[in-house]
Amino acid sequence: MTRPFNFSAGPANLPEEVLQQAAAEMLDWHGSGMGVMEMSHRGKEFISIYENAEADFRSLMAVPNNFKILFMQGGGLAENAIVPLNLSRGASADFIVTGSWSDKSQKEARKYCDVQVAATNESSGHTSLPAAATWQLRREASYVHVCTNETIHGVEFHALPDLKALGSDAPLVIDFSSHVASRPVDWSRVGLAFGGAQKNLGPAGVTLVVVREDLLGHALPACPSAFNYKIVADSESMYNTPPTYAIYIAGLTFQWLKRQKEGELAGIAAMEQRNQTKAQRLYEAIDQSQFYVNKVDKECRSRMNVPFFLRDESRNEAFLAGAKMRGLLQLKGHKSVGGMRASIYNAMPMAGVEALIDYMQEFEQKLA
Ligand code: PMP
Repeated sequence: MTRPFNFSAGPANLPEEVLQQAAAEMLDWHGSGMGVMEMSHRGKEFISIYENAEADFRSLMAVPNNFKILFMQGGGLAENAIVPLNLSRGASADFIVTGSWSDKSQKEARKYCDVQVAATNESSGHTSLPAAATWQLRREASYVHVCTNETIHGVEFHALPDLKALGSDAPLVIDFSSHVASRPVDWSRVGLAFGGAQKNLGPAGVTLVVVREDLLGHALPACPSAFNYKIVADSESMYNTPPTYAIYIAGLTFQWLKRQKEGELAGIAAMEQRNQTKAQRLYEAIDQSQFYVNKVDKECRSRMNVPFFLRDESRNEAFLAGAKMRGLLQLKGHKSVGGMRASIYNAMPMAGVEALIDYMQEFEQKLA
């Protein structure tokens, strides 16, 4: 039996191999007599799961040794507070607003420091990226925040900004929640990256934070200990009980990612190529049709989240009902934007994208 194709923006589909392995190990992990949910986080079994997950993510994403990898809780929205609590020193931070998520981030940070929106694409309805040369960065900013993939508006930075080239020494903070592990990261441009796991890595409940060591140890006195990056780093993400099962599933996903191949390419490079091909196919199909439209500038269209609209929006409900009958699930767009959204994360195979395109074309032809 094949499962339906699930286009949810998150929590999202996981690789079937990962789910099957987790099912097989549910009652007894590696002969321990315990399921992973039932283990002490301080026992040798879970410690080995944790250490492998950390090492696999580090090697997959080529995270340099001067960065810590933290497994935290609270999701991306908690990081909107945790980052300024740890990095702002109560001073100032600059934000690039490119959609709903970066806008939420800058609003939350205002509770902790002096925030400036250094650039925004609001006038385009969040369908473009403001050119880096126009960013009004402040010399004294303690960090610059960018959401590198706006999950709702479908806008992605295909390359990370080079703050040094823009005359800024501030560390770059990226919210990579919705495209983490979909492509390599140029760590030389990053001070801190955070992302919830529930799109590309595993279930909701664990938040990945990758932070350069020199940024640790400057938290505001009011920062909760469980959210103090230095305390979390010094205790190997075990200051409090970590989300053990979510870390385990993320670890299985990292192993799955390591096994991926695309011609000569392996791991994240293979994923990147596959993601490029999937997104290109879907955008081409939308652009070639008179029936569907995507409004985002071609240069910054997300390879993960593809929002699109039926030109005749009175057909929306029929489109979604027909899709569901065909085993194409969760295509409804975010309520703030409307229309449709196909999230095509790492775990979405090319066959799922082809099935969606076939359905879209048939739906259009039926009404022609
Ligand atoms: N940032 C981005 C880019 C997101 O897509 C999301 C969730 N969709 C969040 C932050 C918020 O994450 P969470 O719900 O895990 O707090």
